[in-house]
Amino acid sequence: MTIKFIKSYSPYHAGDRAGFSYKKEKKLVEAGVAKEVKRPEIDKMIKNSKTKTKKYKCECGREFNSPQGLGAHQRFCEEGGK
Ligand SMILES: [Zn+2]
Repeated sequence: MTIKFIKSYSPYHAGDRAGFSYKKEKKLVEAGVAKEVKRPEIDKMIKNSKTKTKKYKCECGREFNSPQGLGAHQRFCEEGGK
């Protein structure tokens, strides 16, 4: 995991992020010197999924995450409108 220092811990300063062995990180967190932070990979995945999300909007106002979803809905939507 990665930790973020909330207090200065030579040579690190409050706000610095660093990775150590699990045992050392646990000690620092328990000592109140640092806190756990989310893994950067997870943050990247969330950002990527957000940027990749494209909305496909039906004329009725409903939005879908894929053209397939929109197409399936529009068949239903057109049938419902008749
Ligand atoms: Zn519709």
